Amino acid sequence: MKRCTKCGKSKHFREFHLSPFSRDGLKPWCKDCCHLYWVRYFNRNKASLRKYWKGPKIRLQEKYRRYEDELVAIVLR
Ligand SMILES: [Zn+2]
Repeated sequence: MKRCTKCGKSKHFREFHLSPFSRDGLKPWCKDCCHLYWVRYFNRNKASLRKYWKGPKIRLQEKYRRYEDELVAIVLR
């Protein structure tokens, strides 16, 4: 088990993304918190992100790809 530094809940290691640069090899935030963070980030930056994306065939950075459908829907809404 590992405690998420954002929501403070103890969760199974499977609930954390891998991070090769951290000491225990896992991100400090659980997957749920990372997900929420990106959703908020995309919501905040919708207007500027939309300028760079021309339609549904966009390529997201690796870190966003997992949530691609949801994030694209937010930005293009
Ligand atoms: Zn969390």
